[in-house]
Amino acid sequence: LVTVEAGLPLHRLNALLDAAGLALANLGDIDRQTVAGAISTGTHGTGSAFGGLATRVHALELVTAAGEVLTCSADENADVLEHARVGLGALGVVSTVTLQTVPAFAVHAQERPAPLDETLARFDELTATRDHVEFYWFPHTRGTIVKVNTRLPLEAGLHPLPRARAWWDDELLANTVFGALVSAGRRLPALVRPGARVAAAALGAREFTDLSHRVFVSPRRVRFVEMEYAVPREALLPLVREIVAAVEAGDWRIAVPVEVRTGAADDIPMSMASGRETGYVAVHVAPGSPDQAAYFRTVERLAAQVGGRPHWGKMHSLTADDLRGRYPRFDDFVALRDRLDPAGVLANDHLDTVLGAPVRARG
Ligand SMILES: Cc1cc2nc3c(=O)[nH]c(=O)nc-3n(C[C@H](O)[C@H](O)[C@H](O)COP(=O)(O)OP(=O)(O)OC[C@H]3O[C@@H](n4cnc5c(N)ncnc54)[C@H](O)[C@@H]3O)c2cc1C
Repeated sequence: LVTVEAGLPLHRLNALLDAAGLALANLGDIDRQTVAGAISTGTHGTGSAFGGLATRVHALELVTAAGEVLTCSADENADVLEHARVGLGALGVVSTVTLQTVPAFAVHAQERPAPLDETLARFDELTATRDHVEFYWFPHTRGTIVKVNTRLPLEAGLHPLPRARAWWDDELLANTVFGALVSAGRRLPALVRPGARVAAAALGAREFTDLSHRVFVSPRRVRFVEMEYAVPREALLPLVREIVAAVEAGDWRIAVPVEVRTGAADDIPMSMASGRETGYVAVHVAPGSPDQAAYFRTVERLAAQVGGRPHWGKMHSLTADDLRGRYPRFDDFVALRDRLDPAGVLANDHLDTVLGAPVRARG
């Protein structure tokens, strides 16, 4: 168990854990977030047997709207801990977090391009038998990149990518060239579709083994606007197929890939994976894309049909009325918020939209 200040960025935490021979069990795509920002919004990686970062919270300290410091653990204020692990910033300011870590481990990464149909056909088998699986589909192509990560003991040895290859793939192709394609597409939308074909073809197969966090996390320097929906696992691939069909039927120009991941069910009331095995679909556009509204609206409509829950830290258009039906314990969370912050000290427009107005404003 490791206790940290809640504002510690994950990349600094990972370095400290390395030095202690420890690691976080799983991570999302980047490590720039703070511990509090990551857990409060339900940040997750991929892996059918792995929950998001908040599932590793053992205890936390919460400074309430009244200025009181609540220690929340299994023994004290356990009801608050249950909700505050994914607290949306609505229950108080998280000041310290005690995380369950695991012994440091290595991850063997296999990344390879594959046709979309093959990826969809193999996804259930892969996610059932491998530790961490995800894929990216490049809109306007039938191409995907599939990433399969396998956990290994450190004693198995590390075989990281040579520095030149890592720079070529992660900096030059994934950031510089991809960024140039996205920005060319913003100026000249006719370039988006040929650009997508270039991007899909550029990334080749690669295999390496490195410390877990160095495999899970990548540098991300290309700006994009993102929406992500969590759906029941069995609804994931049908939803992806519908999104593919909508993009193929539409007149949009989508320059940024769709990311598909999975996660274990958890018991955190406001977690996107609360109470159900989960599949995640993230859609992205270049900032300012004229297609954002129609594309995101379409994905939201398709996700709504299967009870999709939007990521709390990404774009969406849902309100408390929509969300209440998608989270069985939504009203328990709001009741706790009203108990801890009846005057709405921590309220803001966004929280009023997704949770409803605080008690005082409701009169
Ligand atoms: C490039 C990129 C890649 C990403 N990849 C992933 C991914 O792989 N998986 C995934 O799930 N998400 C991903 N995200 C989303 C990201 O993890 C969330 O947006 C996260 O909340 C960002 O944390 P932060 O510390 O930067 O945010 P902040 O903006 O500081 O915080 C976000 C929210 O958390 C709450 N919060 C922050 N600090 C506190 C505190 N001390 N007490 C109480 N509440 C607090 C507040 O509600 C705040 O609005 C990605 C985002 C980006 C930009």
